[in-house]
Amino acid sequence: MASAPVDKSKSYFPLAGLATDGWSTEDEATATCFCGAVQLSFPTHGDGFVASFVCNCADCHKLTASVHASNFTVKDTHLKHLRGQENLKKFGQSKTVFYKEDGKDNTMTNYFCSTCGSLMYRVGAAFPGMSILRLGSVDDFTLMETKLKPTMEQFTKDRVSWKKPTEGAKQYEEDGLH
Ligand SMILES: [Zn+2]
Ligand SMILES: [Zn+2]
Repeated sequence: MASAPVDKSKSYFPLAGLATDGWSTEDEATATCFCGAVQLSFPTHGDGFVASFVCNCADCHKLTASVHASNFTVKDTHLKHLRGQENLKKFGQSKTVFYKEDGKDNTMTNYFCSTCGSLMYRVGAAFPGMSILRLGSVDDFTLMETKLKPTMEQFTKDRVSWKKPTEGAKQYEEDGLH
């Protein structure tokens, strides 16, 4: 039997990972790791929400184990760890980070669940005061197509040829953030 189409006009929480307590409101939503140990909440619009974008850079290939990353950026003052902050491990390096200002640290640090390995966010020395979250960890799938829909796509020079430009997203051959 064919399943009914998903109604994208309202919140949609498919079974995705072990947690079943994700939520979204008018202003905020949750992002949860695959095992459920780590849960964040963040603003979906307004002052604390910076931007949503797709990145095809070489780092994003490797660290997603996919061919692109779907990211959104939130101000640290508005990012909450609802649970599991102590369960996060971090790994940072600067060798492959594309953005470099002379004499300045450009290390990007990944924060991932030490139980299931889900990458929850990245923090870049060149992006003070904000964290780069992952669209795919958001519990309300409707938000990926509404409030959190990417408005920018970068490193299109490294985009696989079978993937089309993200609809409605401004295109940048390389860095679109600086
Ligand atoms: Zn986990
Ligand atoms: Zn990237």
